[in-house]
Amino acid sequence: MPPKRDSGIDHEKVKRAVTLFLEAIGEDVERPGLVETPDRVARMCEEILYSTNTDPAEVIKVLEAPGHDEIVLVKDISFYSLCEHHLLPFLGKAHVAYIPAGGRLCGISKLARVVEVASRRLNVQEHLCTVVADAINRVLRPQGVIVVMEAEHLCMTMRGARKPGSKTVTSVVRGIFRERPATRAEALSLIHGSS
Ligand SMILES: [Zn+2]
Repeated sequence: MPPKRDSGIDHEKVKRAVTLFLEAIGEDVERPGLVETPDRVARMCEEILYSTNTDPAEVIKVLEAPGHDEIVLVKDISFYSLCEHHLLPFLGKAHVAYIPAGGRLCGISKLARVVEVASRRLNVQEHLCTVVADAINRVLRPQGVIVVMEAEHLCMTMRGARKPGSKTVTSVVRGIFRERPATRAEALSLIHGSS
């Protein structure tokens, strides 16, 4: 659920904008199917764009666990976001791995939460990937972090290039994963492996 905080979304303004948009595309805003639409869309925005003014790093809490310096990986984290170029959804899976330093870990569910919070705003996928990696880097100060995202962009599949099922893959690599190809390869084989 979205955190209870001010999303910065002006509900009334969104309603007015949606009404104007419907008029602009030639719709009859009084017809029964559309009467509630501006309000519905405004409420939806509060749910799917709630993190516009939130720092995703806030959800990460450091747990002290001295001695652990192996890869921690959470893969297949589903996410939904909105492309800032077309306001259409892109959705897919994120895979997040890090190697702790100084015994600083976080609950594994928090890695999924960071992806969730970072995605609930207007995005481009490359930037989303970077925001997730940098949030983890900033709070946990790990030896390395790697974030891979694969997503279908509706702006590519229902318009434009119209390539249904095509996936856009982005990755951001920091620290030891960048410096040591063998460590990066280990993480990538865990991410792409079937186990
Ligand atoms: Zn787009």
